[in-house]
Amino acid sequence: MAERRGVERELLGHRRLLRGSLLERPRFCGKAGCKCTRGQPHPVGLYLSRPVEGTARHLFIKAADHGRARREASAYKGFRRALRRWRAIGKELNQLWEALGEAQEGSYPFG
Ligand SMILES: [Zn+2]
Repeated sequence: MAERRGVERELLGHRRLLRGSLLERPRFCGKAGCKCTRGQPHPVGLYLSRPVEGTARHLFIKAADHGRARREASAYKGFRRALRRWRAIGKELNQLWEALGEAQEGSYPFG
C-alpha cells in the first residue's frame, strides 16, 4: 500500500506529457560540397513517432523544441510505467484481500 501511494504521487505529478516516442536521425542535406557529404552529419534530426491508423507517423521536431520534447516524452514514459505498476499492485492487493477474507471465514453451526 505504501508503494502504491508512492506510485500515485508520481501519477499526480501533473507534468505535461508528450505521447509517442522520440526518434533521432542523423541528417544529410545532400547538397554538393556540404560537410554532410563528407561524413559529418548536421545536428541530429528529432522526430516524434506516433501510431496513426496502424502505421507510425513521424513528426519533425524543431531544434528549439528539443529540450521540451525530450522532457515531456520522458514524463509520458514515466507516467505509463507508473500506471502499469499501479495496476499490478492493485492486482496483488486484490489477491491479498481475497486471501484475507477466506482466512477469516468461519463455518456454521458455530463451534
Ligand atoms: Zn549537408
